[in-house]
Amino acid sequence: MIVDLHNHTTMCNHAQGTLDEYILQAIKQGTKVFGFSEHAPMDFDPKYRISFEQMQEYESLVLAAKEKYKNEIDIRLGYEVDYLEGHMDERVLKAKVDYLIGSVHFIDMWGFDNPEFIGKYEEQDLDEIWQKYFDTIEAMAKTEYFDIVGHLDLIKVFKFMPKKNILDIAKNALLAIKKSDMVLEINMAGIRKPVAEAYPSLELLQEAYKLEIPITFASDAHAPEQVSLYAKEIVKIAREVGYSECASFKNRKREMLKF
Ligand SMILES: [Zn+2]
Ligand SMILES: [Zn+2]
Repeated sequence: MIVDLHNHTTMCNHAQGTLDEYILQAIKQGTKVFGFSEHAPMDFDPKYRISFEQMQEYESLVLAAKEKYKNEIDIRLGYEVDYLEGHMDERVLKAKVDYLIGSVHFIDMWGFDNPEFIGKYEEQDLDEIWQKYFDTIEAMAKTEYFDIVGHLDLIKVFKFMPKKNILDIAKNALLAIKKSDMVLEINMAGIRKPVAEAYPSLELLQEAYKLEIPITFASDAHAPEQVSLYAKEIVKIAREVGYSECASFKNRKREMLKF
């Protein structure tokens, strides 16, 4: 796939491999624009992300790699930022980067995609959990802090599905994404998880297409061998829905590329 903007490094404490290994794999797979989007620092859940003190080191490492590989691939610098009320920080939101991915990993401080806390799905009504999740996505879009929506329907990760129609649950979130001019990533990490399909689902992607919401592509790699692992599958989904262009970002400005 031509663009791949969601990838991690070992600095977040839950990924493996060197930056060079990720980049060499991306070059091998034919990626033209490859972005690192490390989990941004936050004063909550610090174990799974870099610290504020590491921001400069992370940014320098990516910028050095950008220079090193400039004749082979276009490296971009970004962050994956948690949308969590009261825990977002200006140092991240105003960082000099190419783009920010906004992701929801917490519902009322519950890390719902962490297998450690999977028990909580049994204690609540799934329709309510799903609605709360998409209400949070909607609130995130309305802040207009971010360029890309990370893994739109991450709440399906363990395959606890709602009874209600998902399009109804997600409708206002999609409208807010459109209104804030954000881009949706098609993220292959879901294929590696219990749900075994990309984020977002086909039906949500079709709805996004109807609303003319642009897309981009994401490995969400936490190891070099995950870079582009299911690239064929997610590009095929995008084409089937009707997309022929994907977005990339430079200095927070969107550019569209044909694929
Ligand atoms: Zn991660
Ligand atoms: Zn994420």
